[in-house]
Amino acid sequence: MPRHHARVRLTVTIAACGALALAGCTVTIDSPTSQDVPDGGGSSAADASAAGTDGSGGGTPEAGAGDGASAGDAGGHVGTDGGGGVDANGAAHDASSTGDGSSAGFVVAPHPAWPQVGPNQSVVLQPMKLVAVVSSGDPLASDFFAFTDALAASQWWKTVTSEYGVGTVSATAHVTGPAITTSPDDAAMDSYVQQAISGMPSAAPNGKTLYMLFLPPGIAGIDPQSGLNTGCQFYAGYHVPYGTGGDSRGVVQRCPLQPGGPTELQDATITASHEIIEAATDPASGTGWNMGDPSAPQPWTHSPWIAGLQGEVGDLCTGTEWTEGSYTYQRVWSNAAAAGGGDPCKPAYVGLPYYNTSAAQGWYTIAAGGTVDIQLTGFSTATTTDWSVYMTVLSSSASGFDGTILSPTTVSQQGTTFEMTNNGRTSTLKASAPAGAPSGSWAVYGIESVPQAGVAGDPQHLWTVGVHVP
Ligand SMILES: [Zn+2]
Repeated sequence: MPRHHARVRLTVTIAACGALALAGCTVTIDSPTSQDVPDGGGSSAADASAAGTDGSGGGTPEAGAGDGASAGDAGGHVGTDGGGGVDANGAAHDASSTGDGSSAGFVVAPHPAWPQVGPNQSVVLQPMKLVAVVSSGDPLASDFFAFTDALAASQWWKTVTSEYGVGTVSATAHVTGPAITTSPDDAAMDSYVQQAISGMPSAAPNGKTLYMLFLPPGIAGIDPQSGLNTGCQFYAGYHVPYGTGGDSRGVVQRCPLQPGGPTELQDATITASHEIIEAATDPASGTGWNMGDPSAPQPWTHSPWIAGLQGEVGDLCTGTEWTEGSYTYQRVWSNAAAAGGGDPCKPAYVGLPYYNTSAAQGWYTIAAGGTVDIQLTGFSTATTTDWSVYMTVLSSSASGFDGTILSPTTVSQQGTTFEMTNNGRTSTLKASAPAGAPSGSWAVYGIESVPQAGVAGDPQHLWTVGVHVP
């Protein structure tokens, strides 16, 4: 049963520096018109893990592999074909067919087609009863209750469920249990919910109920394989079945906040919305809407999105955000939008260019102790400002896989060098495998495209690419 991390967490955002508007900004363009990336072209790696940013375990291979049955899903995105086959051919999209190209003559750079998420046995929570469970004394308790009620009535819910056979939320309930003062594992969380709802018929399980448990500040869950989830190092949230009658339980942990990032409430509701839509569309983590089994052997024979992030409808839009009313949600994968080749997540940001940074193949081979250069190409649906590109190791079979991204264009700001890209420009991911990595070792990298400050829309768009030792 895969559990679900909520998302990749990235902190470093470049200030609006592209136009040299900021003092202390230095833009370096090594070869502005070249499609080739000179080795060493960038001065230093803008490696998200080196920047110490990613709370969901990116950059820490131990968070992924080995833990496929329990940790794993940081969010996810796209990349290859949803049928589970690696899109090794890169099935480049016809640029002129992709959405939103508002600039006359603008050509969207080639990129592989997005995957599609399959229904499997179409097991969903329909209609879902949504029960918010909070710990007594949690200062955000009333906010979480109001959020889950707002979610159930939101346009966001109508939009993100429309393709998946999940309709209106049938009912919501608010449950306050005793104060949680020690780190709970899954058994303790289940038992906490069970005791908290006893005597409350409105919150009783009915086979289509999701119990959304909000852990209070200072309390970390215990992962059965990875251990204490300190600082959200393994996940921000996940969902699992609750009992054997078809019900689900989600959990959201309070995570470290980033300067300029979401508030404590926003951070929790983004994660909660991710887990709620995933529990509704794939309550048993495998029989509903998902791309495939993340713990399957030989992950390189499937889309890297699966091994990297697990491939449920929330995972594939990790890093996105949407505000409606007083609350912030994550955007959610849409097969229909993905088929258009542009922004694959809903609700759509009408009029805003979508941008990302792709690799032509899903997987590349690498030798133990060796490196491989993987060309990354920026693409956007319309003219937009340069964005910075980072890498993180989302998941791997062993520790020691690493990498660096180098771009011909870099921006230096307050001692940090950002690797920049844009539509049609290439960067290089220099991936490395640990010495002695046995045949069958693998890693999936997340390629993170982050806008400069002040650019409207999502904080991040993600791509995945894998390497394996033959
Ligand atoms: Zn997820």
